[in-house]
Amino acid sequence: MIIDCHGHYTTASSKLQAFRDEQLQLFAAGKSTSVAQMSAISDDEIVDSIENNQLKLLKERGGDLTIFSPKASAMGQHQADIATSVRWAQACNDLIHRVCELFPENFAPGCQLPQEAGQPLTDAVTELRRCADMGFVGVNLNPDPSGGHWACKPLTDESWFPLYEALVELDVPAMIHVSGSCNECHHTTGAHYINADTSAFMQLIQGDLFARFPDLRFIIPHGGGAAPYHWGRYRGLAQMLGKPEPSEHVMKNVYFDTCVYHKPGIELLLSVVGVDNILFGSEMLGAVKGIDPDTGNYFDDTKKYLDQLPLSETDYHKLFEGNVRKVFPRLDNRLKAMNL
Ligand SMILES: [Zn+2]
Repeated sequence: MIIDCHGHYTTASSKLQAFRDEQLQLFAAGKSTSVAQMSAISDDEIVDSIENNQLKLLKERGGDLTIFSPKASAMGQHQADIATSVRWAQACNDLIHRVCELFPENFAPGCQLPQEAGQPLTDAVTELRRCADMGFVGVNLNPDPSGGHWACKPLTDESWFPLYEALVELDVPAMIHVSGSCNECHHTTGAHYINADTSAFMQLIQGDLFARFPDLRFIIPHGGGAAPYHWGRYRGLAQMLGKPEPSEHVMKNVYFDTCVYHKPGIELLLSVVGVDNILFGSEMLGAVKGIDPDTGNYFDDTKKYLDQLPLSETDYHKLFEGNVRKVFPRLDNRLKAMNL
């Protein structure tokens, strides 16, 4: 199988965004957002939005299944209060669940969480458990729910531990994924995402999180941000901080995806990080959706870059299927239940 660990429902019905707009207008007006209501979305609308977009591209590119989560830039944990974020997360996750029930062999669900900077993660844990009960296999954990202010403690701080305890208990890995940027100096997908990936990696070097949670697993998307390119810097910083090598200290529990959108980047990733810590991902559809004029191919058709490399069958199997089934045990169970 070819499994893409990173896809978002960027093509959902406009009714979802209309619901969000109503929430945010009520919030801005100082009114209760609980009166916001989402119009019913039919199965036909969902099928249309998927068949003509993500599923079409998945099949054209030779893929089989995507771990599918709500549109990340729209999670917007910083945009309103926690009660509003709870209802928004429920609406988005319920829609993801319906997609994955309609296309069980092509999509497996990942959820977003209601979070509020500086506040306990009680509602996030509740939503995680609700989604796990519905069969979700993964979760997007926002390391900066302030949307660019970085008003939270680092991921190694004990304030995050209740969520980690639930992740370990449920055997769900977390993709470290920010949402939109509230700072115009940091473009959402060009700077804020990559900054966050890099910051998360450095936080993990500075701390000792996996000694406390040896079974916790993170995916740092977008190729691990700047970490692979600056690997020597991070090894040297770990040394200066009296920490073990990142390969021992961090990479027993952390995986990077292949969303770097050019072949030299993929080659660097493989040579520095190694095949065992890389999961195939494309972040299709929407982060960078154009065609590269140099190759004539879509930037986010990341399978094409991998297909050009002189890798063994064993390594291809790890990248496209084996690693992701290991990191996402609930996905493995879901596929086995379908004899896949
Ligand atoms: Zn993403």
